[in-house]
Amino acid sequence: MAKDVTTIPYKIYLTEDEMPKNWYNVRADMTKKPAPLLNPGTLQPMTAEELEGVFCKELVEQELDDTTPFIEIPQEIRDFYRMYRPSPLVRAYCLEEKLDTPAKIYYKFEGNNTSGSHKLNSAIAQAYYAKKQGLKGVTTETGAGQWGTALSMACAYFGLDLKVFMVKVSYEQKPFRREVMRTYGASVTPSPSLETNIGRAINEKFPGTTGSLGCAISEAVEVATSTEGYRYVLGSVLAQVLLHQSVIGLETKAALDKYGITPDIIIGCAGGGSNLGGLIAPFAGEMLRGEKDYKIIAVEPASCPSLTRGKYVYDFCDTGMVCPLAKMYTLGSGFIPSANHAGGLRFHGMSSIVSELYDQGYIDAVSYEQTEVFEAAEMFARCEGILPAPESSHAIKCALDEALKCKETGEEKTIVFGLTGTGYFDLKAYEQFNDGKMTDYIPTDEEIAAGLAGVPQFPGNEI
Ligand SMILES: *Cc1c(COP(=O)(O)O)cnc(C)c1O
Repeated sequence: MAKDVTTIPYKIYLTEDEMPKNWYNVRADMTKKPAPLLNPGTLQPMTAEELEGVFCKELVEQELDDTTPFIEIPQEIRDFYRMYRPSPLVRAYCLEEKLDTPAKIYYKFEGNNTSGSHKLNSAIAQAYYAKKQGLKGVTTETGAGQWGTALSMACAYFGLDLKVFMVKVSYEQKPFRREVMRTYGASVTPSPSLETNIGRAINEKFPGTTGSLGCAISEAVEVATSTEGYRYVLGSVLAQVLLHQSVIGLETKAALDKYGITPDIIIGCAGGGSNLGGLIAPFAGEMLRGEKDYKIIAVEPASCPSLTRGKYVYDFCDTGMVCPLAKMYTLGSGFIPSANHAGGLRFHGMSSIVSELYDQGYIDAVSYEQTEVFEAAEMFARCEGILPAPESSHAIKCALDEALKCKETGEEKTIVFGLTGTGYFDLKAYEQFNDGKMTDYIPTDEEIAAGLAGVPQFPGNEI
């Protein structure tokens, strides 16, 4: 059997005592901070007061806090984390053997809960603060349903109402996550609906439309801001979400430290940037403080390449243009990935924190086409046993490539990647792949330019 199996176990766990008691706010160690959210009307930084109309009070504090390095994880949240955390850090011995590489590969597996992904780490925190504020419920949007599922579990735990606007095409074609959400007590409405002004307007303008994430966000925000005792919550992109997801990186680092392992390369898939931002947080902190150097790689789909082909400007976070402007690598809020795009990671922009770290050169980015990503997923599933989510498989593909480079050079690099979730609800995409019907599409420069033309233009924000 493989190399150091006698000294490093297949799975490295942490004891309850070793579990993180604080989240880590990487912004505290950044000399040049991510740019603030702007009010789209005045172009001034969003104030706490403005944000509190939409988001819970304590989450707004976290959103605006770019100086406090450690923020305590409330006991109630730690108690919930205990039910499914620590997530295992697995040494991919079988994969290493299959690749015949001298590289040492580890993955942090976040799919070990019913929602099947890392999104529960922030969902439970957001539900907790809503409950603590005495709110009655929260609203959100969901596309394929990972975020809605995680949030429904969190709201059930704290006894909060949850109203989910689910993009109509997914509501009809992906009934399984919808039913998980309903089982946890959420009300799920196909979007665009007839329940909101924006939904009615869109239905009138585009009869028979199957909806979009941008429209579902606008509906969820409208209901949250017009219903007493409700607020809106979001599952990625925001600084508060990256803060909660730092639990992934803190656990990873604690587990590696326990065995004296220092990674050379850290890899994460990047949609809105929350799992990547969380995984790399403590490592990026060491780099920012000048203590260590790592190679950090963000992996995105070639069909939605915000870091590798987007522009670093202020843009809308949603297609409905109701949310604040965020400075981020973006393809334009009107950019829609090609219809053949199977996996997630379809957000047009990237977290401001990840964007700023990328701009400062702390993070590298690569993109892959979906067929090669599914090939990597298949190989991983057959070696390591876990059926990975298509999103996570982007990170797998990059880890395989880095491990194969080591095979060529003979270097024994240590590679850590984030395995964000399982792929049980993505079997339609696997079916396409298995039938040989999966195709790749890379947007042309003209299509990228057309998306970017929708970026708001104001002095200092020219494309
Ligand atoms: C949502 C999701 C992602 C992408 O979101 P990030 O905010 O970029 O982390 C990746 N993997 C899985 C399994 C997801 O559900």
